[in-house]
Amino acid sequence: MSDLSLDRRQFLAAVGALGALSAAGTLGATRLADAAEAPGSAEFPVAPNGMPLEAKVDLATGKVEVNDDVLVRYSACLGCYSSCGNRVKLDRATGKMLTIGGNPYHPSCALPYLDFDEPLTEAYKTLTWAGGAKTHATICGRGQGCQDGYSQPERVTVPLKRAGKRGEGKWKAIGWDQLIKEVTEGGKLFADIGEDRNVEGFKALHDTKTPMNPAEPLLGPVSNQLVMFGSRGDGRTAVGSRFVNSFGSINSYSHGAS
Ligand code: SF4
Repeated sequence: MSDLSLDRRQFLAAVGALGALSAAGTLGATRLADAAEAPGSAEFPVAPNGMPLEAKVDLATGKVEVNDDVLVRYSACLGCYSSCGNRVKLDRATGKMLTIGGNPYHPSCALPYLDFDEPLTEAYKTLTWAGGAKTHATICGRGQGCQDGYSQPERVTVPLKRAGKRGEGKWKAIGWDQLIKEVTEGGKLFADIGEDRNVEGFKALHDTKTPMNPAEPLLGPVSNQLVMFGSRGDGRTAVGSRFVNSFGSINSYSHGAS
């Protein structure tokens, strides 16, 4: 629309839940910087919190006008084992994640929640506190903080090897080839920091015949010393358990098994 004053009278900007969370300071500095770089337009100006609007809702008619520069995607949060839904806001041009909010189709985020048959225009309306929204959706602060797992520049993206005493908090980056070699071959892996201990690798444990401890036969073979402490049931557990069981160990534990 060309008349912005008319916009302000007749439209409610759908900053809503997504923008409010970012303004409340739950975003890290990096995310706020990204948001500030996000371009606005005359029709969809950047809101005071630095976020471009994803849509506008006509309060009189309920009509939703979507900002094509902003992608809104409905997904799931892996911030903890609650497995809530989430709603991710992305800058279409750069693909950058701008912020995250609640998924109105998900019962962990909204009560009542939207039926899957409800069109996305209804979901856009839930970003407002006016305009006939059927519900509103939120996620927790930890879910918001998960953005850092995606783009925080200091996140761990390479294998880290202990470079000091246990608990000292010293680490060094190593390559994947070194990781695989050391984990499989074993050896005096920490000789460079003065430790003489021989660390057994997978090869040394790949023995399904020899008892781990003849005095404790219930412990089974040496191969049972390979233990997998698993994670959530998002696909990794099945792969990990299959590997560990194929290796000859019964010790595969899922997220809650400990
Ligand atoms: S939104 Fe919060 S409670 Fe839900 S899965 Fe993410 S981190 Fe867990």
